[in-house]
Amino acid sequence: MEFRELADKYNTPYYLYDFEKYKKQFEKIQEAFRGRKSLIAYAIKSNSNLSVVKLFADMGAGADCVSIGEIHRALKVGIPKYKIIFSGVGKRDEEIREALEIGILFINLESKAEMGRVEKIAKELGVVARISVRVNPNIDPQTHPYISTGLHENKFGVDIESAKEIYIHSKNSPHLEPVGVHFHIGSQLTQLDPIREASEKIATLVKHLKVLDIDLKFFDVGGGLGVQYSDEVLIPPYNYAQAILSTLSGLDVTVVLEPGRYLTAEGGYFVTSVLYEKQNSGDKRFVIVDGAMNDLLRPSLYNAFHRIEFIVGEGKKEISEKVSKADIVGPVCESGDFFGKDRYIPTEIEHGDLVIVHTAGAYGFVMSSNYNSRSRPPELAFENGEYRTIRERESFETLIELEEKFI
Ligand SMILES: *Cc1c(COP(=O)(O)O)cnc(C)c1O
Repeated sequence: MEFRELADKYNTPYYLYDFEKYKKQFEKIQEAFRGRKSLIAYAIKSNSNLSVVKLFADMGAGADCVSIGEIHRALKVGIPKYKIIFSGVGKRDEEIREALEIGILFINLESKAEMGRVEKIAKELGVVARISVRVNPNIDPQTHPYISTGLHENKFGVDIESAKEIYIHSKNSPHLEPVGVHFHIGSQLTQLDPIREASEKIATLVKHLKVLDIDLKFFDVGGGLGVQYSDEVLIPPYNYAQAILSTLSGLDVTVVLEPGRYLTAEGGYFVTSVLYEKQNSGDKRFVIVDGAMNDLLRPSLYNAFHRIEFIVGEGKKEISEKVSKADIVGPVCESGDFFGKDRYIPTEIEHGDLVIVHTAGAYGFVMSSNYNSRSRPPELAFENGEYRTIRERESFETLIELEEKFI
């Protein structure tokens, strides 16, 4: 990647997404589930830039959305309504109403209370709401607690018994039609056993429901496939597919997949540059860069590890191989504003050297904010050997446009 050329042209910080890598990731999942009815519903929340969503839309993807805003993004780039799923623990009435009016594939119910709202709104509109139930299989996905969702102690989904009650009520309601089952046990999964176990439990539920004459068509396994941040051993997509498919024998269901991170994390770079270096209390070394937690929150929020690479020199000096330990931090006045701690980085760096934060394409820009009145960075894409802008750097005007008229 031509990080330096892009920095000269667009300034720093910026995000860069390698669309060729994104396509490869999509194809790997497609390939793994070949020969089985399946729908890859891209989890838009991982990277919701319209050009990114369009890239997957053009490859045939559907969309897993967690707000009406995401549903509109999906529709905007041509994802057909029958490939759109609406998930999330707290959907507002207006969102439910709009989703029903649009006529999306199904709404994932996360509680009995939500079933009640959806039923009421469907009745008001005179429609039948296609629903699926998010079941919490109570399985430890062995991932970071903040991105673990499949245990009863997490806020997501309902237990199997409550799910059954929702299905039975829905089947008997003129305004609800149960069409699917959904589970999503966590993110950045690197262990196959919890996935197989969850799939097994949910497949058993589907079989029980069949006996009750509730015939589900969609088996939605959520997202969560892990990616390489440091030295993780990843689940090969083929093994992932086999683990799920092996639990589905005798069931005629379409497998719905909701990958987010797996499609967009790798091949995504956050590029920032060195402002200053300083040493506190003698030997603690800090490198201050022009990107900050408002641009890329994951290290601050999850203490997430991202590989960090320095591009030093720019031909201006002899490049030394020597390294020493340092914290790479941003300018925001929060101690949590860091990208890496105790990293071995070149001892000789100077103002303007580039710092590449790897695996930053998922949950990167989408979690950014304007904290400290910092304009958000531009997003760039690399495709077919060329670079292009897919979102401009925000200007001061865009920052104040919703406030200005009130002063
Ligand atoms: C966040 C989320 C996903 C995507 O998770 P990844 O780990 O990015 O693959 C999929 N489905 C649901 C319901 C989610 O909440």
